[in-house]
Amino acid sequence: MDTFSASHFHNDNAARAYLEKLRWPDGPVCPHCGVINRAYAIKPAGVYRCAEAKCRKNFTVTMNSPMERSHIALHKWVQAFHLMCSSKKGVSAHQLHRTLEITYRSAWFMAHRIRECMRSGGLGPLGGSGKIVEADETYYGPTEKPRVSPQRKGRPYKTGSRGPRDKRAIVSLVERGGNVRSFHVPVADADTVVGIVSDNIARESSLHTDESRLYSFIGSQYAAHETVKHSAKEYARGDVNTNSVEGYFSIFKRGMRGNYQHCKEKHLHRYLAEFDFRYNHRIKLGFNDGDRAAIAVKNADGKRLTYRQPH
Ligand SMILES: [Zn+2]
Repeated sequence: MDTFSASHFHNDNAARAYLEKLRWPDGPVCPHCGVINRAYAIKPAGVYRCAEAKCRKNFTVTMNSPMERSHIALHKWVQAFHLMCSSKKGVSAHQLHRTLEITYRSAWFMAHRIRECMRSGGLGPLGGSGKIVEADETYYGPTEKPRVSPQRKGRPYKTGSRGPRDKRAIVSLVERGGNVRSFHVPVADADTVVGIVSDNIARESSLHTDESRLYSFIGSQYAAHETVKHSAKEYARGDVNTNSVEGYFSIFKRGMRGNYQHCKEKHLHRYLAEFDFRYNHRIKLGFNDGDRAAIAVKNADGKRLTYRQPH
């Protein structure tokens, strides 16, 4: 891929300059006191000293990010961000291990740190007036601790009306032509689904689901609730369909099968964050591979900081 010819993929000084440009568009930001562009470079390269009289502390662009104190070279981090952000299906830790010539263990940790950078928190609701949001559940991979059924004298559930009991349940919401938000839940029952839908979809939206009873109560709280009857082999009725969310599930499952077959259940939410991130920054929405990586790199702050201007 010719994007990998750029010097920030091969040279640590160039990689640092790339990170500084992305993370500090208005000049160095002191992570200790939050002041912007009131610092000067000292030795060694990449270290800055805050010029605020009350602070005077040293910092680097990787401070509070997953790259801080990493023994992996900065340019390899930059490559890893790009690799994970560019493929529609993701890249495995094995592939990172081979491509970057680092240990498998390092590659595995690196990939999870980058997934954290792809997580979006504190976002506003999906949808809105005149918008359609699709909601659906799916199941992927075996649960590690099968839940026990009181009806089966404490033995695991087999299958039930709400899907396989021994599979990991996922609920996803997709705004048509927009973003996805996915959740790994212990069980996709009505309480869980109602909570997720009402916390994440604006009431003014039109909600599209299948005919599952999980959505019938919460659906009544929306501007409209349209359902397709999959049981009657109906997959779309005009613009009433759940094709977007089903399309998302198929990208997710293909990617998981291809790269992340042995994903532990406790990490599933991180993989969902990764697939959500790529979907929400897909080409159709105007993002290219480089944009996607840049956004993940900018998200790499380990802690929230209130920025302020120098006085
Ligand atoms: Zn400072």
